[in-house]
Amino acid sequence: MNAVRLTRRGEDRLESGHPWIFAGDVAERGAAQAGQAVRVVNAKGRFLGIAHYSSTSQITLRLLSREDEAIDRAFFLRRLRAAAAHRERVAPDCPAFRLVHAEGDLLPGLIIDRYGGCLVLQLLDQGMDAARDVLLDCLQELFSPRGVIARNDVPVRKLEGLPLEPEVLAGEIPERVSTSMNGLTFQADLRRGQKTGVYLDQRENYLAAARWARGRALDCFTSTGGFALHLAARCDSVEGVDSSPEALRAAESNRQANAIANLTFREANAFDYLAGLVSARRQFDTVVLDPPAFAKSRTNLDAALRGYKEINFKALRLLAPGGTLVTCSCSHHVQESALLQVVAEAALDARRTLRILERRTQAQDHPILLTVPETLYLKCVIFEVL
Ligand code: SAH
Repeated sequence: MNAVRLTRRGEDRLESGHPWIFAGDVAERGAAQAGQAVRVVNAKGRFLGIAHYSSTSQITLRLLSREDEAIDRAFFLRRLRAAAAHRERVAPDCPAFRLVHAEGDLLPGLIIDRYGGCLVLQLLDQGMDAARDVLLDCLQELFSPRGVIARNDVPVRKLEGLPLEPEVLAGEIPERVSTSMNGLTFQADLRRGQKTGVYLDQRENYLAAARWARGRALDCFTSTGGFALHLAARCDSVEGVDSSPEALRAAESNRQANAIANLTFREANAFDYLAGLVSARRQFDTVVLDPPAFAKSRTNLDAALRGYKEINFKALRLLAPGGTLVTCSCSHHVQESALLQVVAEAALDARRTLRILERRTQAQDHPILLTVPETLYLKCVIFEVL
């Protein structure tokens, strides 16, 4: 195995429990080749761990193990078995769930979502891309999947110099996969849908939102209807809004598959649509805000926070006393404290008093590592308007 030598700062970073080493903390790359598993050593040559090496990314190393071990079929089998065992604890009886959540399962660069017999992979770095065949072989052995698709159309692959093409790796992936979540039917488009087809990370938040929801409900950024479908059973009427016609087509077929009558979808820019509802003095008892990640990086954090404030302000203007606001942020750069701060500002501006009902995060099949803040990305806070 080739060795990569770290600076003192790089070594400190690994010792703080973080698995990433940035280019500036690498002292010597030696003969390391794109996508290889390499030995990571300190300035004096002492072994620190085994990592996947990227020749192009600013994240040069992603730690796979702190043991001196081979990164082979047996290694991946062990990690995948451990990931599957964890799902049996945290997501039992779920037909659709995240089987591997990258760093959260000690497999940086790898995402695997399971939809019944179909597996959807995202190979996010050179190392996992190079390990594709051995991973596929392990997945065949462990799960005998009906089909495996790599949804490699994810922009981060650009930073790795990797192509952005989805590819069916094995078996067949139907145009639509029918799956169920929380007792509802979802038609997932594993080939082209947002994320890997369904927002699996909101599974537990859908149930939480439904517990508090009532009356007239508005689900902004509904995508394929996740929150809206769950709210329908508890509310008099539900309106779902999204700007993507493809997502709304899937939402509508989900509505029909569940024979839900009190739910309508509308294609609109949520910012404009909320403004229109405020002008029209419409009132709602429940509003859900689950926008895309406004802050894709730290550099546009201020603009992102203004965006969160604006939609929360408008939602609060629409909410009747006693109403429920479910507000989410999936930008990991926006910490919960920052989200609470902008909602507080929005509430003061809208002259509403909010009580926190629940502070939540991503579903437990998207595990969070204590020393890896990037593994916690989804915030979902439920408020009561007093
Ligand atoms: N709540 C959804 C996931 C939302 S993802 C669920 O649980 O399934 C964010 C969604 O916002 C995407 O569907 C995207 O199409 C939509 N979107 C992005 N910008 C938008 C805008 N300005 N107005 C309305 N929808 C928008």
